[in-house]
Amino acid sequence: MPVKVVEDWLNACSGCEISILNIGDPLLDLLPNLEFVHMTALVDHKFYGQLGEKPVTEMEIPEATVGIVSGGVRNEEQKHELEQIRKHVKVLIALGSCATYGGIPAHANMWKNDEVFEKINRHCSSTTPAPDQQDLNVPPWIPTCTAVDEVVNVDIRIPGCPPHPDWIVEALTAVLNGQTSWSLPERSVCDTCPVIREQKSGGGAVKRCFENLEFNPEEGLDKMRCINEQGVLCLGPVTLAGCAGKSGVPRCIQARTPCRGCFGPIRKGARPMVDMMGSLTSVGLDPKTVVDRRAIMNRYIGGHGFLTPLPARPAR
Ligand code: SF4
Ligand code: SF4
Ligand code: SF4
Repeated sequence: MPVKVVEDWLNACSGCEISILNIGDPLLDLLPNLEFVHMTALVDHKFYGQLGEKPVTEMEIPEATVGIVSGGVRNEEQKHELEQIRKHVKVLIALGSCATYGGIPAHANMWKNDEVFEKINRHCSSTTPAPDQQDLNVPPWIPTCTAVDEVVNVDIRIPGCPPHPDWIVEALTAVLNGQTSWSLPERSVCDTCPVIREQKSGGGAVKRCFENLEFNPEEGLDKMRCINEQGVLCLGPVTLAGCAGKSGVPRCIQARTPCRGCFGPIRKGARPMVDMMGSLTSVGLDPKTVVDRRAIMNRYIGGHGFLTPLPARPAR
């Protein structure tokens, strides 16, 4: 008997759903065991009934064993949708860093909603100024852009932007075997990175991330010097490992670029910005020289109160 699955995207870009497709051949082994009874990427239920024939006041979410949700929560419709999913599924999986931590969209939490609306919807040079938000035919925003577990209980978190298909398979297999929890081991991107580390740098200011790194493309990564030690910010020390799936080198490091922290903190309760500032100091760099450091060091994790509006500065 296949297990019934509800899959939905909230404040999402659909990259997490592409990761489900990217499972590839193992997906063919999984599919006979799964029955998707709701998947917005395929059939958009929304508030208009299954065939768009009637306005309804409640999302029609079927009963299921597993719920998979990508994206965080930005507006009242997504909040309602998520609450309905939670009511109708036994195990809820937050898929991807938007669902797990708020993700990139939660950068908006650095400003009040009114400020975001004014700046983006009215005063962006590429946008025709919008009418008042209440006059737009779109669901109203909730006060902040949140992670899924700020609204409902979550059983399993699969971080990553996007999450690696290996972990989607592993988590789903665990649920098919009757487990109600699954998580990645608590280790850092640095723990899986093969570069040379000497625990020191040239010291001084942190360089902008688009400055060229020093490496010989003819040589392997085990001959390249640690990116932080080259003076460029790499969030590997404070980021959960796993972006390359079950094997291999962290994906950005493979491309000889710095880790930007897309898998989020190594463990619950960690303070990546504080830890990263300590890590930079330990190799002789001045963390205060990182441009826009609050946003950069919390790039994917703006939910859970990591990014909030700063108090207004007094006029000079
Ligand atoms: S985690 Fe990344 S891939 Fe997934 S919805 Fe968010 S932005 Fe898209
Ligand atoms: S800081 Fe970056 S380059 Fe250095 S070991 Fe960690 S992940 Fe690798
Ligand atoms: S190296 Fe860092 S930013 Fe790049 S994919 Fe891995 S966790 Fe994400």
